[in-house]
Formats: sequence, structure tokens, C-alpha cells
Amino acid sequence: MGKPGLAGGAQGARELAALAQTVCAALAEGAATRGGPLPDGGPQAVAARLTAATGPALPDEGTGAEEALRTLVREMAAGAADPADPHCVAHLHCPPLAVAAAADLAASALNPSLDSWDQAPAATALETHVTEALAALVYPAAHAPQALVTTGGTESNQMALLLARERAARAGRRPVQVVCGANAHHGVRRAAWLLGLPRPVVVATPSGVLDPAAVDRVLHGLAPHTLLVATAGSTDSGAIDPLPALAECAARHAAELHVDAAYGGPLLFSDRETAKLAGLDAAHSVTLDLHKLGWQPVAAGLLAVPDGAALDPLGHRADYLNAADDTEAGLPDLLGRSLRTSRRPDVLKIAVTLRALGRTGLGALVDTVCDAAGALAERIDRHPDLELFARPTISTVLFRPREATDDDIAELRRRLLYDGRAVLGRARAGGRLWLKATLLNPRLTAADLDALVALVAAAPAPDEPGPPRLPHPTHPFTTEGTTPR
Ligand SMILES: *Cc1c(COP(=O)(O)O)cnc(C)c1O
Repeated sequence: MGKPGLAGGAQGARELAALAQTVCAALAEGAATRGGPLPDGGPQAVAARLTAATGPALPDEGTGAEEALRTLVREMAAGAADPADPHCVAHLHCPPLAVAAAADLAASALNPSLDSWDQAPAATALETHVTEALAALVYPAAHAPQALVTTGGTESNQMALLLARERAARAGRRPVQVVCGANAHHGVRRAAWLLGLPRPVVVATPSGVLDPAAVDRVLHGLAPHTLLVATAGSTDSGAIDPLPALAECAARHAAELHVDAAYGGPLLFSDRETAKLAGLDAAHSVTLDLHKLGWQPVAAGLLAVPDGAALDPLGHRADYLNAADDTEAGLPDLLGRSLRTSRRPDVLKIAVTLRALGRTGLGALVDTVCDAAGALAERIDRHPDLELFARPTISTVLFRPREATDDDIAELRRRLLYDGRAVLGRARAGGRLWLKATLLNPRLTAADLDALVALVAAAPAPDEPGPPRLPHPTHPFTTEGTTPR
């Protein structure tokens, strides 16, 4: 075997093209083997098949690039939970656009690292250009909005809490007290823990969203300079907190506001849906994920602020990366744009997607999945054996078989997983357990929705065998006998 090929340089592209064909063929083969949303048999069977097919992870002698790619990519695909499958709808786990995945190949091949300009000249400029445009989408009236690229909502929320902590420290105030709803992402509590902040005050959200009157009472009882964390698109149900009233309430109590719009943020792309985020630009910072409603492969997170100066506390020096004299001489200083050092150009796939689809193209995808959720909710509502939790706000639908107990529902979800028939999520709401369908696939058809409903409605009792897997028809759901709302 010769020396392994490199991805870069003048020869790199040719090496890569050949291997990319192998990868694509293996992806197709693996998906065909699976033939459903996920492999059947449950975790032990999946692990056993994988190790049987792949053998030792660190062989003494290598098998070569072609064979290794063919085997491992095929097995990964055969054993994947594929978010492009119409019945893989558990999480905010989107089917990435092919154009974004293709761009990610280039990011890997070029391997710019965004911790210093001399590793990433064009990537530096591209990141600045793209993050300014996305920050301006969040803060249209701001003078100098900026955004950081993060690994996702978790890191964005951590950065938001860190910036709030530093604003308080620099102003000589007491450590910031976070106030959030019970509907807030679990990562908010962890971020407070990580940053050494007091344990967040959690406001109950019996209606699914923060009640401004309840927040008002809580903020009234606390010292000023708290950080109110609101959610625009809760992970469990997609509910959006009443942002304008919460912004007013925060201002009244000299509290700062962070909005976690990891899920809901991309509604901004849609002319039809954007009004649901009215008030978002009153926040001191906004979390946005493009690996949810944004159709990017992980990772593609953002934290937007209305004024780039808010990011100054992240400034940091390391002589080998951003020596003061280099910065003075005009080399861009990137260390202050993340707490990471080596950092992938996740901005490339985002930039390519924004250019390829445009705002309206992304907005149309957002509208499509919101319509699909509305159509699914309607089917459930009409079904005599199913109960709908509520009309969806974004693209999440909570439902349950009428006669089922919480235990039945948990068991049904696991059985569908183990049989490889559907990947449904679960969420607790109103004191009960619900099945959760998070629709992020813009190619869902009416027949897919019918089949999903049938799968749950016809679920046999725990000890009966299930019906065979359903085939997946291909008509776009908007043209198939349902009126989207
Ligand atoms: C998904 C989600 C997060 C976490 O984002 P990751 O990208 O998984 O780190 C945070 N907040 C909300 C509301 C989310 O839905």
C-alpha cells in the first residue's frame, strides 16, 4: 500500500473525488439494507451486527482507504437513525440538506481552523460576513449586531450566561441570578452550574410558556440585575414564551433578557412565521441553531448580540495565535470569538446554504414543516382513538392513544424503536406522558402522516406482535388531500 492520499493541495481534490464516490455508494447500500427509519433489534443487536461486520477497531495491518470507507460507512448507514426517513421524528434532529453536507466535505478537506488568521484567511472573512448578516436578521434595527458561531444551543446558552456574568462582574455587581421557566432547556441549569452562578430560579409553566405575571412576581422578589432566560420554541412542545411582555417585565425590573431561540429562531426566515418572534430583538442575546430548523449537519449554532462590543469579555491573548503586535499590524484577532481554540469552519456550510436557498427558500422550508405539523395535528384530532395535546406552535406535535397509560406510552415508544419502525420522542406535559413528533423533514407526504398516525393508533397491546413495516410513499403532502393551515 502506498502513502495515504491527502485531501488538500492540487492532487487532493482528485483523491477525494474517488473516495467520495465510494462513500456515496456505501451510504446508498447501507440505507437500502436498513429500509426503515432505524435498524431493528434494539441496542444489543445493532452493536453485535456492527462489530461482526467491522472486526477489530485497530487492526495491525490496515485494509486501505476504499475498503475501510466502504465497510464502515455502509455499516453506519445501515445502523443509522435517519432523520430523512419520514418516521424518524423524535428530536430536533434534522435531515441535513445535501448542499450543506457537500459544503462540509470542503470544510474538512481545506481544514481551516478559526483560532488564527494564518490558518483561515478566507474562512475568517466569510465567518464575519455571514455572522453579521444572521445577527442583522435577529436584530434588524441594531447598529452593529454580531454573532458567534457555536456548537449549538447548549454552547450558545453557556456563552450568553458567561457574558451576563462578566457584565455583572465588570459593573461590580453581585453574581447574576438566572431566572428561567420550567420549559427552559436543561442546558441552562447546567450552564449556571458550569459558570459557578447561583442555581437558577425556575418559574413554573403550567400552560407550557412563561406567564409574565408570574415572572413579574419572581423578579420583584429578587435583587435587580437578574438574567431572565426565555424560550422561543421549547424542546418539548415548540411553545414560544410571550416575548414582548417578558421583555417589558425584564426592563421594569432592570433585569437582562436572553432568548433561547435554538429551535424557533429560524422562523425569522419565513415571512409568514416571523411574527411569532416579535419582541425577540429586545433581548441582550439570542441563541439560534441552524442544525434544527436550518437543515445543517451538526454543528451549526449561533449566539447573536445587538452590539458586537458585548463580546469584548471573550477577548484573550495567546502569543502564538494573536500576539499584540500582530493584531496592531492588522491581523484579525479571532480568539475572542469562542472559548475553543482549534475550530472548524462550520460557517462554510451555512454560507453555502444561505446562498443556495436564499432567505425565502429557507422560509419556504420552514413553512412546509409547520404545515406538516398542522396537518398531522388535524389527523390526530380527528382520530377517535388518539388525543392531541395542543395545536402546534412550530412543528412539534404531542399526542397519545386515548386509552393508554404513561407506562403504555413509554413502552410503545421503545417497541417502535426496537422494531425499527419509527423514532418517536416523548415529553411530559400537563402531568402526563405524550408521544412527540418533531417534524423537520420538508419532504414529508400526506401518506407519511397517515402512516404515522396508523402506526400509533393500530399499536397492538404490549404482548401482541406488531404489523409489518409500512412502505414509504413519495407524494408531497401538500398535494395529497390535505389542506395545510
Ligand atoms: C436543542 C435545544 C438546545 C440545545 O441545543 P444543542 O444544539 O443540542 O446544543 C437548547 N435550547 C433549546 C430550546 C433547544 O431546543
